[in-house]
Amino acid sequence: MSQINVTRSSMPLYEEYCEEIKDLWESHFLTNMGVKHKQLQAELESYLDTSHVTLYTNGHLALENVIAALGFPEGGEVITTPFTFVSTTHAIVRNGLVPVFCDINDVDYTMDVTKIEELITEKTVAIIPVHVYGNLCDVDAIEAIAKQHNLKVIYDAAHAFGVSRKGVNAANFGDASMFSFHATKVFNTVEGGAVTFSDDGLVQKLNDLKNFGIRNAESIAYIGGNAKMSEFHAAMGICNLRHVDEEIQKRKTAVEQYRKRLSGIPGIRLCSDQADVKHNYAYFPVVFDGYKYDRNAVFAKLGEHGIIARKYFYPLTNNIECYEGYPTAKVESTPTAYYISERVLTLPLYADLSKEDVDRICDIILN
Ligand SMILES: *Cc1c(COP(=O)(O)O)cnc(C)c1O
Repeated sequence: MSQINVTRSSMPLYEEYCEEIKDLWESHFLTNMGVKHKQLQAELESYLDTSHVTLYTNGHLALENVIAALGFPEGGEVITTPFTFVSTTHAIVRNGLVPVFCDINDVDYTMDVTKIEELITEKTVAIIPVHVYGNLCDVDAIEAIAKQHNLKVIYDAAHAFGVSRKGVNAANFGDASMFSFHATKVFNTVEGGAVTFSDDGLVQKLNDLKNFGIRNAESIAYIGGNAKMSEFHAAMGICNLRHVDEEIQKRKTAVEQYRKRLSGIPGIRLCSDQADVKHNYAYFPVVFDGYKYDRNAVFAKLGEHGIIARKYFYPLTNNIECYEGYPTAKVESTPTAYYISERVLTLPLYADLSKEDVDRICDIILN
């Protein structure tokens, strides 16, 4: 039996990519915001229906840079979720800010908006929620709280490419959003990422920060790093963007098959589609909550059959060794996140996952 990985990167046809990069052999212009970079940026602004897209080498540096660009005072507190990839928490701490962990809700696993206000102090500067698994946060409630307390909102939208609510793309919520174009995401540029935002004043700053702060050969405006997307990565993005809608459609078909097989089973909890939301079917999380086998047993059993699921997200970022000394890093303060992280598995999901493979996975789980 062949192995099934939790994900499989989307790729264009080999010939399509070769055709796309052909002109780079004429121009010898390989990076530094060239033709492909400009084209991908414009195409994403259109696809995501948003005013500004700034491209990055990866999603993590995109998040670090947008936090830096908003210029928070050192030691400021940022309300965030521990139910995420370490990148979210690292980006806050690496900017000299303090993560304050808010619990998640029990339905879609995004930030529990009823728990945000009690965490706000005079030091709070921002909220960084995550559209986890592509499930949108309660953006209206978060916006209302942020407005009332004069806080910035940056969404970690790494999972939310192509997601929209009532026709508004996820790229347009909060002060800014970060997308990851890592190989494992719904849309990839191999490695890559972006910040989306509407404030014209951020354009120059973000461009400066990803290119050493260089304005021109004799003017260095900021102490920036290097996080530029190369022409080869941008070319991969141009190709993959042509097929992403079709890929999302295929993911949906696989999800529907999973739901057909696994819904209504006592002790197995699935996420359902959110009202008014067009989903991207980025992940298929399953919570084993009183099922005849626990999460770890299912994980091990799948592994014996060559099926690689993922304990995602486990452990919580407030329960990992590098944050041990942080006063706010306590799982007791985020009981729902802790509960879910102990019981969740994301099952294999990618565009070309066949109905037979989904059935094989479900057969192993169910018997
Ligand atoms: C993938 C991911 C990131 C980081 O993106 P990279 O492109 O891998 O740097 C950040 N946050 C979340 C939730 C992610 O899933």
